[in-house]
Amino acid sequence: MEIDTLLRHLENQLLWLEQQKYTYLNLAKLPDLEFAFSPTPVELPTQKQEELPAFSAATVEEPPTQKQKELPVDTLEALHAQYAACLRCPLGQTRKNFVFGTGNGHTSLLFVGEGPGADEDRLGEPFVGKAGRLLTQMIQSIGIDRPDVYIANVVKCRPPKNRTPHAEEIAKCFPILRRQIELINPRLIVTLGNVPTRALVPDAPGITRSRGNIYHYQSWKVLPTFHPAYLLRNPSAMVSSWDDFKKIMTLCFETEN
Ligand code: SF4
Repeated sequence: MEIDTLLRHLENQLLWLEQQKYTYLNLAKLPDLEFAFSPTPVELPTQKQEELPAFSAATVEEPPTQKQKELPVDTLEALHAQYAACLRCPLGQTRKNFVFGTGNGHTSLLFVGEGPGADEDRLGEPFVGKAGRLLTQMIQSIGIDRPDVYIANVVKCRPPKNRTPHAEEIAKCFPILRRQIELINPRLIVTLGNVPTRALVPDAPGITRSRGNIYHYQSWKVLPTFHPAYLLRNPSAMVSSWDDFKKIMTLCFETEN
């Protein structure tokens, strides 16, 4: 067969296949050359395609990279990188910055707040606004420099209008905090307000009753106290808060019970 005849046949076949909406051919399954060069269209093995399961997102395997992302990471830096572009909950859509946490990753003292506010969202760091400055002063008042502790929040993206994060948002974000706790392995976790206290100790009473008492999240000691933003609105609560802070050093350095 002349080469131009051969090419014409081939072109006809390809045009026919295109009209039949074929976008893929398994060359190993082509019947024989007669099919390819037949002047009249032949029945293609469409049955095979009908036997394929219907497309469903549920049957699509996650790409390996996605699965790798789910593996536990061994450093805070890697954990940060793993979630920096997180969109697991709606808060990711409206944030300016992912606010992972800052401080000494080998500290014995971890503070956990609720979530980033406007300043934190803008700067990508927790507790940098007015409440953050108060927290820094309180930490210094017990003889500790803020860079020597670690500070994080339950949710890493700012809830719109500083609303309390929803339970589903906390649930989606909690694996990040859990891994932070595992990696830092502090001697004491100080929870600032109701949200972080209940995230770690679901059956704890409200903050006015739970503050100053010791709870546990797994093997870690948890000391709830007031959120500094609450103290700014209710300065009279500073006295109780000071009592809580005085316990911190003892709890951080006491030997295990
Ligand atoms: S709040 Fe947490 S779970 Fe939600 S998008 Fe931000 S990092 Fe992801």
